[in-house]
Amino acid sequence: MVVIHNTLGDKKQEFVPEKKGLVRMYVCGPTVYGPAHIGHARTYIAFDVIRRYFEYKGFEVKLVINITDVHDDMIEEANKLNTTIFELGDRYTKRFFEDMKALRVKPASAYPRVTKEIDAIIETIKLLYEKGFAYETNDGVYYDISKFPEYGKLSGIKPNKSITGTRVDTDKYEKKKAQDFALWKKAKPNEPYWPSPWGDGRPGWHIECSTMSTKYLGLPIDIHGGAVDLIFPHHENEIAQSEAAYGIKPFVKYWMHTGFLTIRGQKMSKSLGNFITVPELLQKYDARVFRFFIVTKHYRSQIDFSEEAMEQAKNSLKRLDEFIQRLYEVELQGNASVVEPILSETKVSFEKAMDNDFNAPAAWSAIFKLETEVNKLMNENKMTREAAQAVIEFLKKIDSVFDVLSFKKPEQKLTAEQEKLIKLREQLRREKKFEEADKIREQLAQQGIILIDTPQGTKWRKV
Ligand SMILES: [Zn+2]
Repeated sequence: MVVIHNTLGDKKQEFVPEKKGLVRMYVCGPTVYGPAHIGHARTYIAFDVIRRYFEYKGFEVKLVINITDVHDDMIEEANKLNTTIFELGDRYTKRFFEDMKALRVKPASAYPRVTKEIDAIIETIKLLYEKGFAYETNDGVYYDISKFPEYGKLSGIKPNKSITGTRVDTDKYEKKKAQDFALWKKAKPNEPYWPSPWGDGRPGWHIECSTMSTKYLGLPIDIHGGAVDLIFPHHENEIAQSEAAYGIKPFVKYWMHTGFLTIRGQKMSKSLGNFITVPELLQKYDARVFRFFIVTKHYRSQIDFSEEAMEQAKNSLKRLDEFIQRLYEVELQGNASVVEPILSETKVSFEKAMDNDFNAPAAWSAIFKLETEVNKLMNENKMTREAAQAVIEFLKKIDSVFDVLSFKKPEQKLTAEQEKLIKLREQLRREKKFEEADKIREQLAQQGIILIDTPQGTKWRKV
């Protein structure tokens, strides 16, 4: 049984999907006018782990991530670069996919793009208009939030309360009340536009997610996710739109939000000069190290990015890599019984942690405990090859959720020169020239080759 912290109601609830065995998930996607930053990366990696854990549990997951390729910021950026939003959108959508691939984020089932969904979006606005939730002004069509009494149920922010400092206050469009938001923006000169019953224009931001989540996943959807800063106004507005237009409440059964990623304790922002894009990150750090840094944290916690934190992640991951390498090198024959209790105990702890609102830190402490216990068995020479293999298979299954470990077998190849030396040493030993034989042993040890003399001949391993 998976329990999820639902932002709607701010409580943990048992997860019961609308359709048995199927999880339908929608995560708000990027606005494609520049490369994704590491805060976005944190969100997509966190939801990737959630998606993968459902798959580990045997669910089928349908995940939809939208691509916002028309937006005020995009138009501004396209004008600045003397290009179109379409070229900009293509360029950064491609880039987004490349970045996600590098970070080992599994592709979504669909990535609908706003510019290709305009007709469906217009249909949703028409529904809202016909049902009396929308009104038209000189510059657009707006959602009248006074018509939706439940407005605020997700964020706790009620329309009459002060909402200073939000996007709503700074909006430069004409509307009846400050909190109303645009469903359709009428085109100004030199802006991209599409025809609509309210004249040429483009959709507002929030309406795309209501439309595309319904079109691609149906109603209600099981999980809607995004970063915590999308709760208000974006997700609040999505609820107002979807529940008013389609009449199905709740339109989302479980709302999930990822915590902030700060940089050395500060909010990431272009003005503070601490803005790190994914390509910049990957120039400096291994993608697997960053992913490890993220997947070992709770998806809801605020996490702080720093060089020290990355160094720590790098060292922990290195230790796990070495642990797995060591497992590959166990030679003693036998059965796997020595690790069976450890594996079953770890499995229980891992699943208990992840079932409890995807508590990754607790899941990782179970993995680290396994590492300690198995290392102890190896130190005591109690591990068999079969037991080591069972641990590797177990870790592979767990890592289908995190996708962060390396199961590459150790390189076990010698150079022609090293092979020649081993043969020569065997010859010397047969001739009882032990002193010379030992010199070769030392020479190879300096190259990281350890020789083991057995009744079947000389064996070697790399350190
Ligand atoms: Zn959205």
